[in-house]
Amino acid sequence: MAERSYFDWNATALPRAEARQAAEAALALAGNPSSVHAEGRAARAVIERAREAVAALVAARPGDVFFTSSGTEANMLALTPAIETADEKRPRSRLLLSAVEHASVRAGGRFAREATEELPVDTDGRLNLAALTVALAKTPRPLVSLMLANNETGVIQPVTEAAALVHAAGGLLHVDAVQAVGRIACDMDVLGADLLTLSAHKIGGLKGVGALVRRSDDIHIADPLIRGGGQERGLRAGTENVTGIAAFGAAAMVARRAGAAEAARMLALRDLLETGLRAISPLAVVFGAGVERLPNTTLFAADGMKAETAVIAFDLDGIAVSSGAACSSGKVQPSHVLAAMGVSPPLTRGAVRVSLGWSTTESDVERFLGAWRKLASALSNGRRGVAA
Ligand code: PLP
Repeated sequence: MAERSYFDWNATALPRAEARQAAEAALALAGNPSSVHAEGRAARAVIERAREAVAALVAARPGDVFFTSSGTEANMLALTPAIETADEKRPRSRLLLSAVEHASVRAGGRFAREATEELPVDTDGRLNLAALTVALAKTPRPLVSLMLANNETGVIQPVTEAAALVHAAGGLLHVDAVQAVGRIACDMDVLGADLLTLSAHKIGGLKGVGALVRRSDDIHIADPLIRGGGQERGLRAGTENVTGIAAFGAAAMVARRAGAAEAARMLALRDLLETGLRAISPLAVVFGAGVERLPNTTLFAADGMKAETAVIAFDLDGIAVSSGAACSSGKVQPSHVLAAMGVSPPLTRGAVRVSLGWSTTESDVERFLGAWRKLASALSNGRRGVAA
């Protein structure tokens, strides 16, 4: 295959070499982590080392990390009325969430549809804190779910401010940090998160592993999603995915080490990309450009551009990008994120997401800009079928 440039890291990241090595080593282990013999204990040790690494990435204690099969499952596990604390055993009455959450949060977890309320965002895609305050005032014992960074736009939410409001109202805060972790600082205490969701494959681990992290053992989820053999301290039954968890731990260690230096490298590349994007075509609009965003994400559109056609045109030029969220690709659905931000439907239909990662280089960005130059000139000439 001709050389290609991968720009779809928010859909999934390339596994880190360290994660592959950890997975290979774990594959060689024979034991079930619940077994008491030496083989079992070796598998258990791999899981507990990974738990320490994942906890360290978000400044939590290892005992507060619960491995799941995905970020989606961690969200499902977290979003339940049955969350108890030492002071409050009664069920959470309602789930409040922002209108730009990932589908796995928007589905409402284990709350009844009528007990779920979406809150508006501003035109930059940030939660309207005044609307949160109003909703909290009329909701006893709320659970609020707010993502740290949006998967489509990369826009960072005012999580710490929201946490203060939620806690003052006697509520609990769940933070979906799937896209943020490893890209921006993500400390449970600083955020004020009571529960936090992570996904291994977004940070260079393997697909099919996630984690739910709690603030402390004061947070107790009373209705596990999967009951059975009592794994993950009764919260998630089923023999653990030792291979995937081992890789998750290794990826977490690399992400923690790479930290701010990697974020700065990413930001420089992303700035290069956005400057080029606009210089080539003044029609290009970058969403959320005026507010704090992840250093790796650009969601853009241009008048007259159709996302599906643009994605195919980029693909033919060796560039992998996506139209909106990966979970809804395949089905052409307008982005609920841009709709919530009040973006006009024609512009929404043209939104293309470009997301960078640890292996992205300047020459990838140049290749992207070369493809964009062709597409933009076809757009302005109304050729190549990309015009709406
Ligand atoms: N939350 C956000 C913000 C996401 O972007 C995603 C995946 O794209 C998920 C949750 C789901 O994670 P997973 O793919 O591990 O189920």
